[in-house]
Amino acid sequence: MRYAIISDIHANVEALEAILNDIDRRRVDKIVCLGDIVGYNASPNETIDLVRKAGILSISGNHDMRATGDAEPLGFNPQARSAILWTRDQITPENKEYLASLPETLAVDDIFFMVHGSVNSADDYILSTSEAILNFELLKNEGDQHICFFGQTHRPAIFVEDEGRVFLVRGEGKEYDFMLRESAYYLINPGAVGQPRDQDERAAYTIYDARRNRVSFYRVVYDTAAASRKIVAAGLPFTLAVRIKQGW
Ligand code: ZN
Repeated sequence: MRYAIISDIHANVEALEAILNDIDRRRVDKIVCLGDIVGYNASPNETIDLVRKAGILSISGNHDMRATGDAEPLGFNPQARSAILWTRDQITPENKEYLASLPETLAVDDIFFMVHGSVNSADDYILSTSEAILNFELLKNEGDQHICFFGQTHRPAIFVEDEGRVFLVRGEGKEYDFMLRESAYYLINPGAVGQPRDQDERAAYTIYDARRNRVSFYRVVYDTAAASRKIVAAGLPFTLAVRIKQGW
């Protein structure tokens, strides 16, 4: 089986379309999403519609949970918060229902596990090896999952636990392949589709080839100017229009 793993689309339909075209060329069996379908950018309904039309299997992100109104955007920065409030006004009841129906975590085909932030919470971040160590322990209690994909940081990364050693393989801003070992444990972040934060404005995603036990990181150029113009036209914070053109 070949899986495309995408995350943090954040209502950026231009980036999602570009990624889906690229995925189409590479032939995969399934597309999965690690959450944050909405938030920050200006096309929430178009993005949700496309996720559903493309049959993408998704979990819920911390922004999705706030956009439904089930939780408040406490602890969000002012731009993220105002985008959530704007999104609540925009999304159709049907799309709100869809977001509310998403599970927080998911085990896929007995092959890998999906979380948004950390194994425990969609709000947490896995940025350091000490945070990774904690999450490797949680994965072992979660049915001894060896491979877990996570999002939330908007930065591609691979954390490895191999023979008691935990280390970070840096994958920012690059396209590359990485072979997985059967006995090791992995926490893998494909990077963000709709708001990359590794100084590379191209949309990011990963393909996991379960037969070859290989992950491949890809970057895709998309029309950042068009997505940026929509943010301005919607009256969302100007910073959000700038950052997607610069990759932060
Ligand atoms: Zn996010």
